[in-house]
Amino acid sequence: MSAIVLDGKALSKKSESDLAERVKKIKSINNERAPILATILVGDDPASATYVKMKQNACKRIGMESIAIEMPTTTSTRELLTKIDELNTNKDCHGILLQHPVPSQIDERRCFDHIAIEKDVDGVTCHGFGRMVMQLDAYGSATPQGIMRMLENYQIDPAGKYAVVVGRSAILGKPMSAMLLNANATVTICHSKTINLDKIIKQADILVGAVGRPEFIKSDWIKSGAVVIDAGYHPGGYGDIEASNLSDIASAFTPVPGGVGPMTINTLIQQTVISAEKSLLQNKK
Ligand code: NAP
Repeated sequence: MSAIVLDGKALSKKSESDLAERVKKIKSINNERAPILATILVGDDPASATYVKMKQNACKRIGMESIAIEMPTTTSTRELLTKIDELNTNKDCHGILLQHPVPSQIDERRCFDHIAIEKDVDGVTCHGFGRMVMQLDAYGSATPQGIMRMLENYQIDPAGKYAVVVGRSAILGKPMSAMLLNANATVTICHSKTINLDKIIKQADILVGAVGRPEFIKSDWIKSGAVVIDAGYHPGGYGDIEASNLSDIASAFTPVPGGVGPMTINTLIQQTVISAEKSLLQNKK
C-alpha cells in the first residue's frame, strides 16, 4: 500500500492565499486597517519564542498585523490578567494568543479563561470548549481544529469510523476527541493510565498521536489502512508515532514536520480573520 501524505504545508499555503484575499477585502472596507492578532509570550523559553515568531510571520504573509507582547519570567497572574484585560477592550485587536506554557507561578487556566470569547481564536477557554462540544458557534482549539480541516480537505469522513486519540490534554487530546465525536466517529481516548494501549490502537481506523514522547507509538501497533495523524513534534524532526513503514501500513498519514504543525498556525490565523470579519459585521449593525 502506498499511503496518501496529508500535506499540511501545501494545504496551509493554499489557505493563506485565500486568507490574503479576505484580509484585502477587510482592509478595503475598514479604512485600510488590517485584522490584528495579539501574541503574548511570557518568559524566555526558546521553543515558545520560535512558535510565537512563526505565528507572527504567518500574519505578515497574509497582510495581517500582530501586536507582540513579551513579559518577563517573573510575571504574576495578576499582571498577565491586566494585560489580557487591555487586549480584551482594544477594539483594534481581533484575536489573542497566549503562548502555552507560561511560567509555573502563573495560573494558566485562569489566564486562558480571561480571554474574551470573541477573541479566543486559539480556542483555549473553557467557555469556547464547552460551546464547541455542544456544537455551538466557537473557535476550536487550533491544533485539533487544524486536523479536522485537513481530514475534510482530503475527504476523510470520520463518520462511522473507530477513532483512537492518545493523549487527553486540554488543548489537544480532549478537544480532538470531542471534534471527532461531533463528526460521528466512535472515539476512545487513551492516556498514561490506559491498559493495553497497543491493542486499542490496533483497532483504530483513525489514530491521533498526541502523547508528547518521540516515536512512542510503534508502527507495528497500527492497523493496516488506518489514517494516522501525528500531532507530536520533537527535536530531530520526530513525531509521537514511529515514522518508519507508515507509508506501507497506513492509508493516509501526516508527515513530521509539514503535517499538523502548519495547519495549527493556519487555523489560528484563519480564526483571527473570521473574528475580524465578525467584528466588522457587528459594527455595521
Ligand atoms: P501534554 O499536555 O504533555 O499531554 C500528553 C498526553 O499524553 C497526556 O494526556 C498524557 O496522559 C498522555 N501520555 C503520556 N504518557 C503516556 C503513555 N505512556 N501512554 C499513553 N498516554 C500517555 O501534551 P500536549 O500539549 O497535548 O502535546 C502532545 C504532543 O503534541 C506533543 O508532542 C506536542 O509537542 C505536540 N503539539 C503539537 C502542536 C502543533 O502545533 N503541532 C501543538 C501542541 C502540541 P495523562 O493525562 O494521563 O498524563
